[in-house]
Amino acid sequence: MNQADMKKYRALLLAKREELTKTMRQRDEICIVRSSDEIERIQLAGEREFAVLSMERESENLTQVGEALRRIDDGEYGVCIECEEPISPKRLAAVPWAAYCLQCQEMHDSKRTVHAVEPLIAA
Ligand SMILES: [Zn+2]
Repeated sequence: MNQADMKKYRALLLAKREELTKTMRQRDEICIVRSSDEIERIQLAGEREFAVLSMERESENLTQVGEALRRIDDGEYGVCIECEEPISPKRLAAVPWAAYCLQCQEMHDSKRTVHAVEPLIAA
């Protein structure tokens, strides 16, 4: 990957980080709203639950973006951290914070889905 590409991805990642930070700040506000009305409280609880789930996803995404920026600085960007194969430019264009190539990502996702389903069933 050449310097120009690195620069382009860094700009994309910085913009993404900015956007995530902003959304998360807005969500914080939803989470602290209180109401004495029962129905409103139930609605808020639903919103809050959704907000918490989104926040988890966003904060995870924020971590990924931060790590991708660090990999740019270390000159390791664009290489799968699992199998060390180059990540395809098409994938990086769609997911600039991608840490894994498509194959490794799919492996991780299938593992994670199993974990994500369990607490839902328990609830
Ligand atoms: Zn890989």
